[in-house]
Amino acid sequence: MNNSELFARACRILPGGVDSPVRAFRAVGGTPFFAERGEGAYLFDVEGNRYLDYVMSWGPLLFGHARTEIVEEVRRAALSGLTFGTPTGREAELAEEIALAAPYLQMVRLVSSGTEATMSAIRAARGFTGRNKIVKFAGNYHGHSDGLLVRAGSGCLTGAVPDSLGVPAGIAQETLVATYNDLSNVEALFRLHRREIACVIVEPVAANMGVVPPERGFLEGLRTICDKEGALLIFDEVITGFRVAYGGAAQRYCVTPDLAAFGKIVGGGMPLAAYGGREDVMSLVAPLGGVYQAGTLSGNPVATAAGLAMLRLIRREQSTLYPLLEERAATLEEAFRAAGVPVGRVGSILTPFFAKRAPGCSEDTAMCDTRAYAAYFHAMLEQGIYVPPSQFEAMFVSTAHSREDILRTADAIAVACRAAGR
Ligand SMILES: *Cc1c(COP(=O)(O)O)cnc(C)c1O
Repeated sequence: MNNSELFARACRILPGGVDSPVRAFRAVGGTPFFAERGEGAYLFDVEGNRYLDYVMSWGPLLFGHARTEIVEEVRRAALSGLTFGTPTGREAELAEEIALAAPYLQMVRLVSSGTEATMSAIRAARGFTGRNKIVKFAGNYHGHSDGLLVRAGSGCLTGAVPDSLGVPAGIAQETLVATYNDLSNVEALFRLHRREIACVIVEPVAANMGVVPPERGFLEGLRTICDKEGALLIFDEVITGFRVAYGGAAQRYCVTPDLAAFGKIVGGGMPLAAYGGREDVMSLVAPLGGVYQAGTLSGNPVATAAGLAMLRLIRREQSTLYPLLEERAATLEEAFRAAGVPVGRVGSILTPFFAKRAPGCSEDTAMCDTRAYAAYFHAMLEQGIYVPPSQFEAMFVSTAHSREDILRTADAIAVACRAAGR
């Protein structure tokens, strides 16, 4: 079957033909292609087309597709059994490996998705503080749990759903929404809700409204406000962890959160995520304390094998890996700028914005020309390059993107931006 036959079949049984909305290409039009296999920086579809891939499974693939060392560990683990429901040694090993990169993590709990990680970190923060309300930022995405689907960016910025049906108003009410990069806005919320706010959760580099870096002083300011108000600061490092630095955004910006959520890279391409932080907070998590959180497949032996292989490679190669990613991504940024398209970039994540300037918060994203983005997207695809099928997602550069791949992409960017009227 070809791509359109597979999509027609999928649409009859899967809502929109997909298992995660952005894969359906709704924001750019057209039919999604169906992946057959990945190799390094390349994806191959069922029709034998080859794409230079800058979506990279939306973040996990720091080394590109099917890196041998990771696949071998997965194979080895799988042969010994897929799941046990008892502890395995690798769980503590992986938790220790994560804490090597982020030393402020005194305790860690492994879960299966970023959604679970942020949801559970918030539960722990509420349990610890005895407060109900949380502060999140418009355009920040923290997974699809009820209380976090409020001004959630990403698929929610381009889809017909501003937020979501099925989220009770009573739950959404506990979520206070602030403007990204605006500290006075956060202070105002705290003045209005004295001693009611359990935590502030933030993408320390926003990457789900396109890449929007934190302005100087923003993360430090959040730290100060939380300390003053007795609230916890939660960094959602699901994208930024092991991506913008070995120690994530906390390391890159020298700001230490109380709790953090990890996902994507931490699972090496398998469904695994983690949350953790201060011991006095994490020791409230069951079975130690009264904050309940569990998972049949949490700490899964195959997933932990993938995560461990990934994180060990990163630790070993960190001194060369991050400078290399920085340089490759900077070359792409220059290509967009040369074509008159502003860019948001931190390390190896970047977004070209079809607007006069790159946004600093979610309100600014309204000025983006999403039709121009769609034209650019299809012009890239025609040149065999797969970029995110939405203006409000990040491009991911991996170590598998060679210098030649990047130069070819820079040429394609010039062509595609012209096709988009720039
Ligand atoms: C992807 C993402 C999540 C959700 O992770 P899932 O594994 O998709 O549930 C949470 N936070 C951020 C910042 C993300 O990018």
